[in-house]
Amino acid sequence: MSLSFEVQHRDPTGARHGLLATPHGLIETPAFMPVGTAATVKGLTQEALEALGAKIILANTYHLYLRPGHVLIRKLGGLHSFMSWRGAILTDSGGYQVYSLADLRKMTDDGVRFRSHLDGSEHLLTPEKAAEIQLALGSDIAMVLDECIETPAPRSIAEAALRRTSAWAQRARKYFLENAQQNGDRPQWQFGIVQGATFADLRRESARQLLALDFPGYAVGGLAVGEPHEVTCEMAGEVTALLPTDRPRYLMGVGRPEQLADYVALGVDMMDCVLPTRAARHACLYTSEGRVLIKNARYFEDQRPIDPNCCCSVCRRYTRAYLRHLFAAGEITAAILATHHNVHFYLDIMRQIREAIRFGHLQKFAAGVRAQYRSGPH
Ligand SMILES: [Zn+2]
Repeated sequence: MSLSFEVQHRDPTGARHGLLATPHGLIETPAFMPVGTAATVKGLTQEALEALGAKIILANTYHLYLRPGHVLIRKLGGLHSFMSWRGAILTDSGGYQVYSLADLRKMTDDGVRFRSHLDGSEHLLTPEKAAEIQLALGSDIAMVLDECIETPAPRSIAEAALRRTSAWAQRARKYFLENAQQNGDRPQWQFGIVQGATFADLRRESARQLLALDFPGYAVGGLAVGEPHEVTCEMAGEVTALLPTDRPRYLMGVGRPEQLADYVALGVDMMDCVLPTRAARHACLYTSEGRVLIKNARYFEDQRPIDPNCCCSVCRRYTRAYLRHLFAAGEITAAILATHHNVHFYLDIMRQIREAIRFGHLQKFAAGVRAQYRSGPH
């Protein structure tokens, strides 16, 4: 079975409810992808992810390339088989991770030369190499290598990164088209990544250059990295307005619970973010009534669930007092239960967003979520 995407409903805001078909199941969009950096979503087993209804997760090319290595994963039947995950997988290109290495990397037109954060060994990540690794991993959706830059960035730096990102996308596309059929029964889609920092005209130019390469889907990268939410939305909107309506759009690395509907209203179909899992490990819980910082002394003898309106297995069984105790005692179960709830919360928001789109009232839903979160942490 190959991949396909179809928009089924549209909301007056511009939001789309669609169906992404992959060899590893059907995914209703807009979809949130929990982040499984090293072939595991920290704190959750694959059984737990299935029970939560996660249909697609994200895995990191950089981490899996360094450990255990894409050659081993291919030998063991690909990433789905290796980690025993029946759902779909999107792999990033490693571009953002090598950018984050700062002193350990050097960008050239050929690619990024970097030192492993694990053992200091030297590697060269090129657009072709990033595509090769992801073909070996056998993810359902692969990303091209892009150049990430710091924001706010001077225009000249953003322009140079845009040029390089487009040139790399061309090389990645060529390599992918020449080598993809060798994967045989593991069809894969390769997405392009629009860059351009916070310059609207550069965003549009980047989108136009990538459109010429005819990717089956497009991502918007380099946003939600410190700029105001309004700017993130403005830049994402500049791009989605130019993208083909029949292909999926993926906004990388977003976002806060109260922001998800804003991105969806711009016509975004896919999102990923470490927030629900990372915040959970730091005792920050997302609820229908705002954030709960569970270590707070006020929960010492609180018999209520994390979120009285949540139907997840953690909220049905455990109290705030117990969760607070587990965090105070440094028990690993604290992170497991908190992660379970937070991922459920994100997946549930997306489910509600899809329902709101079907009924054409996403704007009202978004205003409701924002009002809950304005009240701040409880
Ligand atoms: Zn819950």
